[in-house]
Amino acid sequence: MPAPLSFPFDNTYARDLPGFAVPWQPAAAPAPRLLHFNPSLARELGLPLADATPDDLAALFSGNTLPEGASPIAQAYAGHQFGQFSPQLGDGRALLLGEVIDGQGRRRDIAFKGSGPTPFSRRGDGKAAVGPMLREVLIGEAMHALGIPTTRALAVVATGEQVRRERPLPGAILTRVADSHLRVGTFEFFAAHAGPDQVRRLADYAIARHYPELAGADNPYLELLRAVAARQSSLVAQWMAVGFIHGVMNTDNMSIAGETIDYGPCAFMEAYDPATVFSAIDRQGRYAYHHQPDIAAWNLARFAETLLPLIDDNTERAVARATASIQVFSERYRQHWLKEMGAKLGLPPLTEADAALAEDWLELLQAQSVDFTLAWRYLGEAAAGEEGRLSSLFADGAALDAWLQRWRQHCAAADRAGDEAGASGTTRATRTAAMAQTNPWLMPRNHQVEAALDAAEQGDLTPFHRLLGALAEPCREQPRYADLAEPAPREFMRTFQTFCGT
Ligand code: AMP
Ligand code: MG
Repeated sequence: MPAPLSFPFDNTYARDLPGFAVPWQPAAAPAPRLLHFNPSLARELGLPLADATPDDLAALFSGNTLPEGASPIAQAYAGHQFGQFSPQLGDGRALLLGEVIDGQGRRRDIAFKGSGPTPFSRRGDGKAAVGPMLREVLIGEAMHALGIPTTRALAVVATGEQVRRERPLPGAILTRVADSHLRVGTFEFFAAHAGPDQVRRLADYAIARHYPELAGADNPYLELLRAVAARQSSLVAQWMAVGFIHGVMNTDNMSIAGETIDYGPCAFMEAYDPATVFSAIDRQGRYAYHHQPDIAAWNLARFAETLLPLIDDNTERAVARATASIQVFSERYRQHWLKEMGAKLGLPPLTEADAALAEDWLELLQAQSVDFTLAWRYLGEAAAGEEGRLSSLFADGAALDAWLQRWRQHCAAADRAGDEAGASGTTRATRTAAMAQTNPWLMPRNHQVEAALDAAEQGDLTPFHRLLGALAEPCREQPRYADLAEPAPREFMRTFQTFCGT
């Protein structure tokens, strides 16, 4: 027997916050088989896996042989799900193995998802299926490649066991890396069950770990609220800019560190419609694309409620101060959105005065059901006078031409302003190049994701690995991946639904 691997763990959550989690062990996996492993992420984390064989990795990432230094815990949390408070959620199918400090000095969680029942499982089996775990890999890595803060997948192992869903499915465990697994719902759990002293300990922990610059502030808890609101405002603006629909923005799926977390029923927009909802369980459209900023603000209000006793002894004053802080979200969100839209249009950050340029473009896409990703991408070509691919997306060319004329005026005005400021002049080519760095060519197309996962479930991982490889460079147009860049057939999108908790 080789010596068990040792990870350089330093497990502050398990050590410094007793009572916030339950020590627990993963269930045994009968026949683990490695489906996915990210060696460069392992290196980034300083894990000694360079010589590990696929069998070693399968044993490790199934939980059958835990690395030395792990202190697996199931974390407690609560959450508002679709607006209703659930006082007791928690890691029902996840375990935090521990934390490591990565090459950048950043503390990262390493956690399992699908590793068996825990005291928080309620009626669930604690398990996960191959398809949804590989889906988390594809979407999470696509987000990472797009530069959007996200948890990442280190490995996926098939357990060799069937999990019982609507039909039996092959079981799997995902190993997830996150800045932390602190959620708005973690604060809600301790506010509901334990009171302000425990919330304060959690808040102090969150500040030390994610916002150390706030430690000496006059009112660090108010500042924490503002800081989380600020990070979420930037995150959600980035989602909107790439057409990402999270699908289940419950407060237990909102990270205090500001990462995208919990890839369940998420999917990307194809033909642009702001009311798009993919999740089968989101019947009211609560988490539709265009509701995401408001939902983030709503979730932040739930976060604020947990902090009120720490913000001020006087409740009225605490509420007034927290409310003012949450308003930061809407203002910041708007600024981030204007900046994102400016970059996507090949312009400086938009001002309120020219926000209509972006809004009217989006309206045009909606009116003609134009593919969101390709429209932006081909707009960059139009900056260099190549309008062929762009106009082929639009049925009504006159409406497009009218808008393009306005856009060209904005481009010319921005160029003049740049010249006056002595900036090196924007040429048509530099605008096109900049837009090609901002507007991805390749996104995880829903039909391609489904096809890759179906094949994986049948034992063929080739389409999965090809798609994953292609998504690593979403802005680079590579002819060999042209099929992956095609929008899904209309017929597919008409009935496409996503599912969570599977
Ligand atoms: P999610 O919708 O994945 O964010 O999960 C919401 C809650 O349900 C969390 O507390 C999960 O741990 C729990 N959960 C989801 N799926 C399962 C499962 N198969 N077994 C036990 N708990 C689960
Ligand atoms: Mg969740």
